[in-house]
Amino acid sequence: MGLDLTTYAMIVEELSRGWISISGIVNTHFIGSYLLMKFGTDEQRQRYLPRMATGEIRAAFSLSEPELGSDVQAIKTSARKVDDATYEINGQKMWVTNGLLSSLVFVLVKTDPDAEPRHRGMTCFIAEKEPGVAQGAAAYAGFNVPPKIRKLGYKGVESTELVFDGYRCPAENVLGGEEAGLNRGFGQMMDALEVGRVNVAARGVGIAQRALELALRYAEERRTFGKPISEHQAIQFKLADMATQLEAARLMTLRAARMKDAGERAELEAGMAKLFASETGHFCVEESLRIHGGYGYSKEYEVERLYRDAPLLLIGEGTSEIQRMVIGRKLLQRHRR
Ligand SMILES: Cc1cc2nc3c(=O)[nH]c(=O)nc-3n(C[C@H](O)[C@H](O)[C@H](O)COP(=O)(O)OP(=O)(O)OC[C@H]3O[C@@H](n4cnc5c(N)ncnc54)[C@H](O)[C@@H]3O)c2cc1C
Repeated sequence: MGLDLTTYAMIVEELSRGWISISGIVNTHFIGSYLLMKFGTDEQRQRYLPRMATGEIRAAFSLSEPELGSDVQAIKTSARKVDDATYEINGQKMWVTNGLLSSLVFVLVKTDPDAEPRHRGMTCFIAEKEPGVAQGAAAYAGFNVPPKIRKLGYKGVESTELVFDGYRCPAENVLGGEEAGLNRGFGQMMDALEVGRVNVAARGVGIAQRALELALRYAEERRTFGKPISEHQAIQFKLADMATQLEAARLMTLRAARMKDAGERAELEAGMAKLFASETGHFCVEESLRIHGGYGYSKEYEVERLYRDAPLLLIGEGTSEIQRMVIGRKLLQRHRR
């Protein structure tokens, strides 16, 4: 639809108010679309974007590996050129959202093992595969999807490993073309993650909003000591803290999105929004669960699911610790300028 990021963040908030699994499917697909729009060649955009826009094909993006997530520069999955028009990819990826049902995986691999600094030796390939199939047809030989990873929550979207074992990828599938894209993958992925962090922040806002709504409703219904629990000051304080943090998280998320829409770098603001909104999501869900008392622990109440879904936001697209590192580094850079 060509919408701006601010509008998109509002849509993600609303989806996440319903179920963050849905926003996970969409966000991951969105990051692939963003990579193509920003860095793809005309030919790559024409080949994939129309079908991605209608939902005919789904995208995934893949940086993490079994031995690393935060330290992206330590990736081991590699690609080497086997003839003029083909690369061979070998290695294992981990935690790929949309890993099974995607047709395209934007995968970051090592193409120059001797590069210093390491990030100058990485390339993003657009790896095609058969959706929903663990071992695809001959054209996708060597691209295998092991069984889904069993998880605490976030169960409406699959997370999988990906195993590349001699997978042949055409050189024309280097994101941005071989000339412009070879060994540029790290920067491309980091740019996309900035947008991804606004998305995760919006998810935090959505889940916090839902947790607050459930808490408000339950607090009016449940009675203790002769009155609704909403009339106890301790409960009102919880609701007040939830609503205040939620409002701040929403404003931070929209500000980061607006900056990105205005073409400004928003690494600092996106990092702050992601950190604050994901922690707010987690905080509000836990407070809502406490307000629900024993029923919060029962599968009959929605807040039980929120409690299992919310922690993902503290981890995906950079943990809270990594956000603090990004924020600290950016603050110092701006201060020294
Ligand atoms: C459900 C789910 C879906 C995911 N989807 C995707 C996906 O689609 N694509 C993808 O590529 N990845 C995906 N991920 C992976 C996710 O991005 C990583 O899990 C995350 O980046 C953390 O990496 P890790 O799990 O390897 O933890 P580690 O990097 O091993 O970190 C372990 C702990 O150490 C802390 N830590 C690490 N380094 C430092 C440091 N320098 N200073 C202080 N503390 C530090 C971390 O904050 C964390 O608390 C997904 C993960 C989950 C759970």
